[in-house]
Amino acid sequence: MADTTSDTGPSVFTADVLVVGMGIAGACASIEAAEAGATVIALEGASGPGGSSAQSGGEVYLGGGTATQRALGISDTVEDMRAFLTAALGPNADQAKIDEYCAGAVEHHDWLVDHGAVFNHKLWDTPTWMPGDDSGLMWMGERAEPYASLAKPAARGHRPPGPNFAGNLLMDSLVATAEKAGVDLHCDVKARSLIVEDGRMVGVRATQFGEEREYRATGGVVLATGGFVDNDRMLEQWAPQQLGKDKVSDGRDDGSGIEMGMEAGAAVRRMHQTETAMLIIPRLVVGSMLVDGDGHRFINEEVYPGLYCHAAVHHRRPPVWVIIDEKGIEDVPENELWGMQPMHAAETIEELAADCGLPADALADQLRRYNEGAARGEDPQFGKSAQWVRPLEPPFGAYPTGAGGPDTFNGLPLKAQGFTLGGLHTDLDSRVLSRAGEPIPGLFAAGRCTHGLHGDGYISGTSLGDGSFFGRRAGRGAAGATGAAGTDGASAAADAVGSVQA
Ligand SMILES: Cc1cc2nc3c(=O)[nH]c(=O)nc-3n(C[C@H](O)[C@H](O)[C@H](O)COP(=O)(O)OP(=O)(O)OC[C@H]3O[C@@H](n4cnc5c(N)ncnc54)[C@H](O)[C@@H]3O)c2cc1C
Repeated sequence: MADTTSDTGPSVFTADVLVVGMGIAGACASIEAAEAGATVIALEGASGPGGSSAQSGGEVYLGGGTATQRALGISDTVEDMRAFLTAALGPNADQAKIDEYCAGAVEHHDWLVDHGAVFNHKLWDTPTWMPGDDSGLMWMGERAEPYASLAKPAARGHRPPGPNFAGNLLMDSLVATAEKAGVDLHCDVKARSLIVEDGRMVGVRATQFGEEREYRATGGVVLATGGFVDNDRMLEQWAPQQLGKDKVSDGRDDGSGIEMGMEAGAAVRRMHQTETAMLIIPRLVVGSMLVDGDGHRFINEEVYPGLYCHAAVHHRRPPVWVIIDEKGIEDVPENELWGMQPMHAAETIEELAADCGLPADALADQLRRYNEGAARGEDPQFGKSAQWVRPLEPPFGAYPTGAGGPDTFNGLPLKAQGFTLGGLHTDLDSRVLSRAGEPIPGLFAAGRCTHGLHGDGYISGTSLGDGSFFGRRAGRGAAGATGAAGTDGASAAADAVGSVQA
């Protein structure tokens, strides 16, 4: 693509479409734009592509009857997927984005597979963060109440064929596809600001090893720069609850794309929403009582782990503990227990409560109620499935969680961790909207630099999911393939830009 280096100014590169950031949103945007016939330059601030996407579990939330689900004999509908996500990602989830995402999920599955993703026809059937094998499908708590009553359960966590953190497999195939489609990838190039001409976004100013560059796009610019969890200044402003917690990212979620968009007049949405995780073993938790600092259970331990982590960290009185017995620990397959022994063990629940700093009477009462129901194979409090309900018997054990309590356990830091879910306000065509609600001409965005489907809740697979889904739309829009790159809203955006620069 054109490089018009001059003696006096920065090197200038030009393409039809400019994509900033080469994680999953950028990769999918690049592929779609290139396949629509556009010339594409993709900028990546790191020395290679992948971003947080490549470090992730690689889980993509898809359903409605995907080929992978069907091959495993799992029936599903768009309506059930929609009902589950609306409840699990809420309250305050983005209903319009959820609707669109669910309606397109089967097609999106096939597109990912056509572009290199592999989802083995093998189901991981028990609660986990990440399967330790090459299973291509997993549950994300769909069988747990209250969700099971709202939507017919179906496993929807599609994942690449590798153990644990398999996101690199997904990203390797998408990046290879992008390169094959002719996408010109420029690494070690950090975009610094958008270039605005007559109210339209026409490129970015960037640096590579301190040298200034200009990248120009005749069609559109796609921001796909990830979230802002690595930027404490932005966390302080927008999501202070995340300060001091560990950061789930590749270390480059500095919010630069969000701030570039805001400087160009973009609105932001849901900036306070964050994903939360803790060093906690889902297979252990599901057979336990998860109790808060008042000694009370507060959730069905069978739901997607991120949901009880979020509730524990943000909505309950600390410290939160996993209360279990010997059989509960023995029931966890050794390779899923990570060698973890309980921090405290005691013959009586009162003794255990004292060790954990919990009120003894309340914990004893909670255990009595739990065991009464469990003796009948029921969980009257939260409806945990009979498979996971059993009276807990002495001796008891307690595991800390990272929501209050000790700072370290088994030599590991016990800190809640997470990433941000809010960002630039985008419409269903991935156009970035101004504060007046108008599309900013020439500007598209997707992935964690935008607000996704999420409200208060997070289910694994919905970040790679919405990033890839709306990334594709951003790429098509910037290439002019959807008509979304038009000049509607030019004046409103120009006004917004004017007010920011004033
Ligand atoms: C350990 C871990 C496990 C996870 N597991 C899952 C999972 O299984 N499923 C799921 O859905 N989500 C998961 N997530 C979350 C998910 O990986 C991210 O939310 C998602 O990858 C974000 O995708 P993205 O394309 O928006 O950003 P990224 O993948 O982070 O890509 C953004 C890219 O932009 C580049 N960039 C940033 N600023 C600039 C700039 N100014 N100029 C040029 N380049 C720039 C960055 O270097 C980066 O490469 C996980 C995250 C982690 C860290």
